Amino acid sequence: MPRIRRLPEHEIQKIAAGEVVERPSNVVKELVENAVDAFAKQITVYLEDGGRELIRVVDNGHGMSHEDARLSFEHHTTSKIYGVNDLSSLDTFGFRGEALSSISAVSNTVIVTKDNNSTTGIKLDIQGSVLLQESLVPCPTGTDITITKLFYNIPARKKFLKSRETELRQIQQLLQALSLIQRDIHFKLVHNDKTILNCPVTPTLDSRITQLWDYELARTMLPFKVVDEDKKFVIEGALSHHQYARYDRNLLFFFVNYRWIKNHALARALLKGYQNVLPPARFPAAVISVHIDPTLIDVNIHPRKEEVEFLHPRLVEQLLQNTTKETLQNYLSAHINKSAILLEPAQMTPAPLQKARPSTFDITTTIIGDDPFNPADILMPFAAQKTAEQPHSAYTSAPTIPKPETPEKSSVTQSITPQQQTTQQERTYNIIGQYKTTYILLEQVDGLFIVDQHAAHERILYELFSNRFADIPRVKLLFPHIITLNTQELGVIEPHLSYFAQYGITIEVFGFNQLVVLETPVHFKDHSIEDLVRQTISWIVESSTLPEEQMKTAVTEKLRAQMACKAAVKAGDVLTLQHMQQLLDDLQKTENRLTCPHGRPTGWLLDIHDLEKKFKRKA
Ligand code: ADP
Ligand code: MG
Repeated sequence: MPRIRRLPEHEIQKIAAGEVVERPSNVVKELVENAVDAFAKQITVYLEDGGRELIRVVDNGHGMSHEDARLSFEHHTTSKIYGVNDLSSLDTFGFRGEALSSISAVSNTVIVTKDNNSTTGIKLDIQGSVLLQESLVPCPTGTDITITKLFYNIPARKKFLKSRETELRQIQQLLQALSLIQRDIHFKLVHNDKTILNCPVTPTLDSRITQLWDYELARTMLPFKVVDEDKKFVIEGALSHHQYARYDRNLLFFFVNYRWIKNHALARALLKGYQNVLPPARFPAAVISVHIDPTLIDVNIHPRKEEVEFLHPRLVEQLLQNTTKETLQNYLSAHINKSAILLEPAQMTPAPLQKARPSTFDITTTIIGDDPFNPADILMPFAAQKTAEQPHSAYTSAPTIPKPETPEKSSVTQSITPQQQTTQQERTYNIIGQYKTTYILLEQVDGLFIVDQHAAHERILYELFSNRFADIPRVKLLFPHIITLNTQELGVIEPHLSYFAQYGITIEVFGFNQLVVLETPVHFKDHSIEDLVRQTISWIVESSTLPEEQMKTAVTEKLRAQMACKAAVKAGDVLTLQHMQQLLDDLQKTENRLTCPHGRPTGWLLDIHDLEKKFKRKA
């Protein structure tokens, strides 16, 4: 007897169906996409028990003739293509002609439909691919499909259905996606008789987001649109700004030619655009829509059509990454003039702490050349940022915030350079004082500005270490610090001692299992280097699979952030007025100053208008 046997047709169908419909959300996706393909302007999805009991999709599209309806649930029947060649000019979601047949193979499916040429509609009742009943019914033009008993004949699949909540969440996510991209359709989702999504037709993405997400987020989304150099594709959409972050990726939506897709490379490119803005493991909200010549993509690579393949993926990824970065940068540049510490000259009022503003003051002269205020620098990759072009610049000494305990001992901070004097003339705030020994409160024309002293100082030092390390004043340790390691640890760190040298920490091997720390940056002299060395060893081990250059970048980046964190003033440190002033002056001269290296904001404006509203002084 042969070992190989031919499977019966009904078993083949069930197996094939499993590829297309794994769970209720797949069914909803196929049915709703059919409705969109039929030019429906209103699509309503009814669910019971997260779709496990019932899925019903009602549309007002062009419907089907009686003959088409009978064909629609047969295998490989479609009105959308004639052959594979048509895929290169596809403008419908469906094309394989297998969704209705797959769904009706594993459920009870009732189709009620009528097209404009028919006077009555037709109702077909199908179970396990078998037509149980056919009748004529009165109904409006459009299609109404109800699925019950999903997976009744595949018990294994039914057993693996997720909880009602999980299935519902998937379907909600799907309808959100479809609503975001198909804005000329009124979508409605009703679960157990309760409407949980209702999105009437609306022209703009902006207003769609307002329908779907919370108003506050919608209000701050940044729209963008770019065309690639060769005019082969367009990317458009909206991005959340730097102060919004969430713990999951649920509000990241990617579309290619109106198709909702999953694409890790695109997601990675987007998140790279947010690098240095969001802390690790935090995610933005984004709607990214790519419009591309259909000959440059393959939509037929995934059983449920959830992925597409680009002919030139890197081009799309690179443009997305750059645009994301630029959009955020442009926003910050505009924003900085409004709410950051520096105000527009016109908004400034004389205040007790501040010297008279020179009448020749011109904002444009403060944001060109070597001036670290240049908003264009914000978000630039560190390597690309300007380094100390002028070694005599005031920057060499300015960002040195004395630690609170020993302010007067630090000679570095006492020399006031010409640039510092300018800064004092430009100050547009009064320091109210320190709150909870953690925040510095500033009175500004447009509100109360709150600075997180640790985050701010961390950013100042981080940028100092990154851009001007050659200029960092160092101190030779009077009592060199000895670190004892085991041979394995020493073996790891020894070839990489240059990482430390790069930031002004001189370390040498001493004896057969010890290191000696000879020199550190002035900011760091009071801190234990040992912790830093041990951490660095673990980072090197972690990145040991990377090529040397990448490992160096990864490790030194962490090292720099850690040095900044350790050397920065802490929450709880008492700051004198002089320290606060120094910190704020340094912050003003610092690139990327709106967030700390971990992405937390360094400052926050409590808007005067909001304040006045709270006290009912203004409507
Ligand atoms: P595909 O969408 O790949 O063509 P389906 O199995 O999903 O295959 O649908 C088969 C055919 O049934 C479609 O090509 C379309 O002609 C018709 N059809 C399905 N759903 C609808 C609908 N809601 N309105 C009008 N026609 C539909
Ligand atoms: Mg289809």
